[in-house]
Amino acid sequence: GIAIQAIDLVKNYGTGSNMVHALRGVNVSFERGKFTAIMGPSGSGKSTLMHTLAGLDSATSGHILFGGADLTRMNDKQLTLLRRHKIGFIFQSFNLLPVFTAEQNILMPLTLAGDKPDRAWFDLLVETLGLKQRLNHRPNELSGGQQQRVAIARALITKPKLVFADEPTGNLDSVSSAEVLGFLKRSVNELGQTIVMVTHDAVAASYADRAIVFSDGRIVADEQHPNAEVMN
Ligand code: ADP
Ligand code: ADP
Repeated sequence: GIAIQAIDLVKNYGTGSNMVHALRGVNVSFERGKFTAIMGPSGSGKSTLMHTLAGLDSATSGHILFGGADLTRMNDKQLTLLRRHKIGFIFQSFNLLPVFTAEQNILMPLTLAGDKPDRAWFDLLVETLGLKQRLNHRPNELSGGQQQRVAIARALITKPKLVFADEPTGNLDSVSSAEVLGFLKRSVNELGQTIVMVTHDAVAASYADRAIVFSDGRIVADEQHPNAEVMN
């Protein structure tokens, strides 16, 4: 089945002669349980697509179908609930809260929603991501790779079916990148999650089941089983 689908999605920024056409009528669907990479040059619309699909940013026109509903018809309250319960977002900059420990950061989405953690799921995430010995550390006491893994655990703690990752390995060395990508791939294979990841890196894209390439607000290539050589 399809996890999320964009139909004729248009996003313009600004008005008049300053208008930027970030998405020029994008049609794409993402299959459930698949890991898709989105590639393309800087400024081609990758982040805009992800932010729009995740309900972080509104579309100019078009439709986004998710679980039988159209995101473009939802109000802010509905979008907040959707992001809280159904969609996970992993940012390149981690966005961890510095005064809180790793554990508190991971649990933050539940804390904010007033929901109780599923301890077994928390333990599994922490174990799988190799964070067990780091739970009482604050972000500045963790390496970049550890911080990104905390951010991943935080994105997954609510068990979202759909996860967006914006350059999740952009700030990591190659060893940490491989760990993070390996985890995302396993999370797709073992938990049936749908992951959409923006990346510049052909090696990172080679972990995905599919790679979509953007250019100037349009999809210009769509490859199954991308390998690093082809994508470069
Ligand atoms: P990518 O993620 O591929 O680098 P973006 O989606 O960030 O591309 O940007 C697509 C286009 O939209 C670019 O021309 C960018 O400058 C423009 N853009 C992105 N965000 C904004 C914004 N908030 N205001 C104005 N223009 C924006
Ligand atoms: P749905 O009710 O949407 O069909 P499932 O039957 O697939 O959901 O999921 C059953 C339980 O497993 C739910 O409690 C859900 O929170 C949990 N779950 C679903 N997907 C995941 C996932 N990717 N990771 C962790 N837990 C999940």
